[in-house]
Amino acid sequence: MIIDTIALGDYQTNCFCVRQNEETSDCLIIDPGMEAAPLVQMLKKNDYIPVDILLTHGHADHIGGVELIRQHWPDVRVAISKDDATMLTSPAENLSLMAGTMVQAQPAEILLDSEDTDYEAAGLRFKILHTPGHTPGGICLYAADEGILFAGDTLFAGSIGRSDFPGGNHRILIDMIRQKLLTLPEQTTVYTGHGPATTIGNEKTSNPFLT
Ligand SMILES: [Zn+2]
Repeated sequence: MIIDTIALGDYQTNCFCVRQNEETSDCLIIDPGMEAAPLVQMLKKNDYIPVDILLTHGHADHIGGVELIRQHWPDVRVAISKDDATMLTSPAENLSLMAGTMVQAQPAEILLDSEDTDYEAAGLRFKILHTPGHTPGGICLYAADEGILFAGDTLFAGSIGRSDFPGGNHRILIDMIRQKLLTLPEQTTVYTGHGPATTIGNEKTSNPFLT
């Protein structure tokens, strides 16, 4: 798995372009944030073709670039949990209205139900782990063979996601992290929605919200 990371917008949201290997041009885009022109430039320069956009949750700073990618690659499919689906189309729900910017996207092509299921596209395979708490439909993407987790805003290096936005729930967030993330192998690399990557082992031993 080849991962290119690019931080986008005022919130420096980590957007990931993921490919199966160096030879493939098909890619998955995880969380295209706001002000996504640098992402489009990077994709065009390398002749990468986004097959699917996977959204860890529906907040504006993780979905702000969806429509720009659609403009350039109209065949791209967008996937989000059914429980966050309306955040794509509602600036009030995705919190962009509150921030004074209007982020609005078309409805998603793929709605993930709340079972933990396998997801395959662009030659890549993930287990979708439903981890509500930051938002009702928050998910993490786990590539077991590679030992890689994309955690969105559920888990950060030394911190956890906020749960004070509408639909957030601190107790559920902690339960989900403990049940579904801290039970993964300790050497698993965790790519977070903001800030540096970490490992499950590091967070188990040193994250003040979890120890
Ligand atoms: Zn968020």
